Amino acid sequence: MMKTFEEVVRFHGHACPGLAFGFRVAEATLTTLGDRAQDEELVAIVENRSCAVDAIQAVCGCTLGKGNLVVRDYGKQVYTFLKRPDGAGIRISVIWNGPTEDAATTALWQQFFKGDRTPEVMRGIRAAKGRKMQAILKAELNELFEIREIQETLPEAARVWPSIRCAACGEKTMEPMIQTVAEQPLCIPCAEANKHPTR
Ligand SMILES: [Zn+2]
Ligand SMILES: [Zn+2]
Repeated sequence: MMKTFEEVVRFHGHACPGLAFGFRVAEATLTTLGDRAQDEELVAIVENRSCAVDAIQAVCGCTLGKGNLVVRDYGKQVYTFLKRPDGAGIRISVIWNGPTEDAATTALWQQFFKGDRTPEVMRGIRAAKGRKMQAILKAELNELFEIREIQETLPEAARVWPSIRCAACGEKTMEPMIQTVAEQPLCIPCAEANKHPTR
């Protein structure tokens, strides 16, 4: 059973258009590629860091902690999902233009972008966002997205590494992130501090 939008809102903390987009991306993915990722069989590659990514984590089970969520921070509204082990999947790109807003709402957005945060402007913006969110939730998937089938080499599955104590701060650090400076194992912040001792 796919999570409801209400459950996703509870995870994210608020309801917003970005979350609605992510929810629909997740819906398109699960209807095309099948069940959510219990473990790591489904890998998500997201090309932004927006509210949408939270919906994808909650619904598809692709999470930062499990290592089956890859963030490529390009600021693009593009989401790729690949299945292990063959790397077959889909690339979802947002094509939606949204409903045209009336002159009053357009003026409101202009005030908002200029930095106006008066209660009157904020009330109007909230209402406009609510309308946008409802439109996203109701739209047909093919109005929202262009979906292409793809085949891609998968990023390496999450691995478990031994921890090593940094020689400077003593804190546990995963082995591949340790830098050796003057034969001492250092964590990245300590190695950086070593390079710039003035700080
Ligand atoms: Zn949000
Ligand atoms: Zn350290």
